[in-house]
Amino acid sequence: MTSSTKTAQDKPLSIVWLRRDLRLYDHAAFAAALAGKGSIQPVFVFDTDILEAFPQKDDRRLTFIAEALVRMDAELGKAGGKLLVLHGKAQELLPKLAKESGAAAVYCSADYEPATRERDKAVAKDLEKLGVAFHAVCDHLIHPPTEVLKADGKPYLVFTPYSKAWRAKLNNTSFDEKPVKLNGRLADGDFPKSISLDKGAEAVLKQIGYTHNPHDWWKVEEGESRLKAFIGKAVSGYKDTRDFMANEKGTSHISPYLRFGIVSIRHCARLAVEQKTHDTWMNELIWREFYAMVLYHFPESQNLELIEKYRGLDWSQNKVHWKAFVECRTGYPIVDAAMRQLHETGWMHNRSRMIVASFLTKDLLQDWRLGDAHFAQWLMDYDMASNVGGWQWAASTGTDAAPYFRIFNPITQSKRFDPEGTYIRRWLPELKLLSDKEIHFPSAEARKKLGYAEPVVDHDDSRKRALAMYKHAGEEL
Ligand SMILES: Cc1cc2nc3c(=O)[nH]c(=O)nc-3n(C[C@H](O)[C@H](O)[C@H](O)COP(=O)(O)OP(=O)(O)OC[C@H]3O[C@@H](n4cnc5c(N)ncnc54)[C@H](O)[C@@H]3O)c2cc1C
Repeated sequence: MTSSTKTAQDKPLSIVWLRRDLRLYDHAAFAAALAGKGSIQPVFVFDTDILEAFPQKDDRRLTFIAEALVRMDAELGKAGGKLLVLHGKAQELLPKLAKESGAAAVYCSADYEPATRERDKAVAKDLEKLGVAFHAVCDHLIHPPTEVLKADGKPYLVFTPYSKAWRAKLNNTSFDEKPVKLNGRLADGDFPKSISLDKGAEAVLKQIGYTHNPHDWWKVEEGESRLKAFIGKAVSGYKDTRDFMANEKGTSHISPYLRFGIVSIRHCARLAVEQKTHDTWMNELIWREFYAMVLYHFPESQNLELIEKYRGLDWSQNKVHWKAFVECRTGYPIVDAAMRQLHETGWMHNRSRMIVASFLTKDLLQDWRLGDAHFAQWLMDYDMASNVGGWQWAASTGTDAAPYFRIFNPITQSKRFDPEGTYIRRWLPELKLLSDKEIHFPSAEARKKLGYAEPVVDHDDSRKRALAMYKHAGEEL
């Protein structure tokens, strides 16, 4: 990598290292860099250490990222700059770039996932050796994980008191925009781009060995409009609509945009408080922060039960059940419909996620880590903290755990939250001719006729087995 250090203004040059903050407004890292002197060079690295976890070459998240980068580059172009995109080990590339470009500082938005924290520590150390400052600023959360703690300084493990403390910590500036006024501040740097953005997202992906796989639901440019449409109309009814899986307007569908920072969390909160009836929705944004905080303080919880007595539960190893689960043929229509939604769109309704996670762990008695890994592979909004939090909640092994004896009945849930079977019909069209009553659990005859799977387990039997498994683990302690 060679580069000229010819910049729009003289040194010092600051690098803004973009990661999960792919936008050019309300941006903490840009704002921090802009508060200093000199010019700014934004850079994004397709980090091969992270790409290893994306084995599917047509993974839609890569398409989403590539589209976002192309969009940013076009916007930067209007402000007289360009985005530098690299491909390789970020841990090595960042110090190398800083050295060769003579940068004085690297700014980025803090990422609180365990592996990323380790990587950032290593980068900061290497930069320090070069005399380059490293600044990681809080951007994708309102309150960083160390800000909302109990009076004794320990992290909360229960949501309600955390949410109260979270709200109490807000002040007049908590949701303030971090402005990005780049004109005249971007490096004109003729950094040779390793990855060319000129020919669009498809060409970007080709250069890193992936294929373009866009989905109609997830257009990068629709993040803002979707958020505004939701806040303008649906947020006031959210409390009543959020649980009905067929209602595509009942929740915001903003999660992938938040995950990659296409929309800013402060902007979401600002828009929400402008409405008088935003409280329930705001609570969901706080859940997101709660789980980020928990993962930060308990990094081991990414693959270990938070409740110690449930470590080493006697999970089933039944491969036939697992196969039926991932192939959407458990014989429980609501579960199979939800899994189809996941595979077809990369997203699943929150109520469906809870039903599916309860079914896997408490009906099939399969390890929550399997479900967590499967979601990690498919979810557009995959976020380690929220995913582990959601799965451990469903498995009753995490924070605010659903007590182990609270086991969702997939048929009752289906009748309650998809009363007319609209959601099931949408994702399992083979059942569409069944009556509203029968669609939740077809008769043996109907299954045979439609070629739909027999139920892999009997819910009542499974429930008893799950209760015994958890009770046994509790008693053993
Ligand atoms: C087993 C399981 C796994 C999950 N995995 C993820 C995941 O990987 N990534 C993810 O973003 N969410 C995850 N969730 C939480 C939730 O299902 C999604 O955030 C939500 O469905 C996204 O849809 P939405 O944007 O329409 O949400 P809305 O209902 O409009 O909520 C707004 C935002 O609040 C946040 N949010 C809402 N509910 C939750 C929650 N329970 N926990 C944390 N944040 C929440 C999300 O950022 C969401 O976009 C999981 C939930 C469960 C039960």
